[in-house]
Order: sequence, then C-alpha cells, then structure tokens
Amino acid sequence: MSTKILIVEDEAAIRELIAYNLQQAGYESICAEDAERAMAIIHDALPDLILLDWLLPNMTGIDFARVLRRNERTRLIPIIMLTARTQEADKVAGLEIGADDYVTKPFSPRELIARINAVLRRLIPEASAQVVEIHGLRLDPVNHRVTDGSREIALGPIEYRLLHFMMSHTERVYSRSQLLDRVWGDHVFVEERTVDVHIRRLRKALQWTGKDSWIQTVRGAGYRFSAVAVVPANGSNKKS
Ligand code: CA
Repeated sequence: MSTKILIVEDEAAIRELIAYNLQQAGYESICAEDAERAMAIIHDALPDLILLDWLLPNMTGIDFARVLRRNERTRLIPIIMLTARTQEADKVAGLEIGADDYVTKPFSPRELIARINAVLRRLIPEASAQVVEIHGLRLDPVNHRVTDGSREIALGPIEYRLLHFMMSHTERVYSRSQLLDRVWGDHVFVEERTVDVHIRRLRKALQWTGKDSWIQTVRGAGYRFSAVAVVPANGSNKKS
C-alpha cells in the first residue's frame, strides 16, 4: 500500500495535473471537488496528506482545514494549502490554522512534489517516497522493492510497511499498540499478537541477509529497529 494523498480542488484540470504528477512520483492519489466529498473520503479512510485548495465552492479550504484540525481523528493529517493568493496575510492565516505548508498557484509540479516530500519526511517519514537505506539494506517506496546489495527481499504487504516504518524510525522502541496504529492504520481492529506474527515473518524474510537481528525485541516494551551491533558483555568487541 502506497502513500495516499487526498487532492481537494474544484478545478478538474488542476486536479488531474496534480494526480498525474503524484502518480509519477510514486504516490497514490484520491480526488475530491469540494469539502463535503473530501469529508466522505476521509470518513472511509485517512489519507497520509491533504492538498487543499483555498478557494472551494461552499466551504472554503481554510474553513475545512479548521474543521480537520478540531477533530481528534483528523487533526494530525499533514495539510498543504494551494492558493492563487499571494498576500502575506493569507499565508499567515493559512499557517495559523495549522497548515503545514503553502504552495502558490501557478506552481510547477516539480515544486509541489518537493514540498510534499519535505512535509512527509518531516512529519511521517515512512509515508514519503524517499528511498531509505541502512548499511546496504535498501527500501524503495516508488517501486516497492527491498534489496540487500543486489539481491531482492520478498516481503508481504504488511511486512513491507512494518519494515518501512521501522527503518524510518530507528533506535526507538514502539509498543505493539503503537505499531498497530502506525502500520495497520486506524479503523483496524486486530489483536496485538498479530504484530508478533508479522515481526516473525519479517525476520524470517531477512534471515539470509543476517539483518534479521536488527529487529530487536525489547522485553516488556515492544520492538526496536537498530543496526547497531550488540556488544558482548565481556566487551571484547568494543570499539571506540
Ligand atoms: Ca479553487
């Protein structure tokens, strides 16, 4: 499953242009022509980021952003405002309601993608289309391939997302429920031991690379991804 971006824009030509460029950049897009339609889409499943036009029919983009920020379920979705307005006061208003960035029309698709990448990298690194590479283990979100050197590692969709999340958040411990929220997503009700099952599968898939040990179990706390070698207790391998 790739990163999903919701485009809320009433002009069909702009919507299509953006959708095409997002697809080229490895993102999945879903379009809405107004706030009402966008709300229905969000109700079904949360997007990873919203591109929100300022001037929309009925409810404006800025009012819609305010609604999203007030709602517990949607308040953390990254929002990039799109607008023809260039006045400083508008920009300030956009940022004040909690938009994460601001792109002025006309924009080049290249600039827009760069802004999206930057916001995602900052807020949800595992949702960006950037390649993640750690000591030869390489995950490419655009073609969905995980390789170690020249060899590909075959992964199921959940193991892929789990690895992507963990490689994007190394050295930190995540509990099973945190992993469920971040990897499985909201609206999903599965038991915590499901996480253990997929961790086991992921380790098995990585076994031949010797990097399965990077997925560490932290007793009583959860799991951590760490490429730092565990130094034996006698300290004979200690480097300094
Ligand atoms: Ca518009």
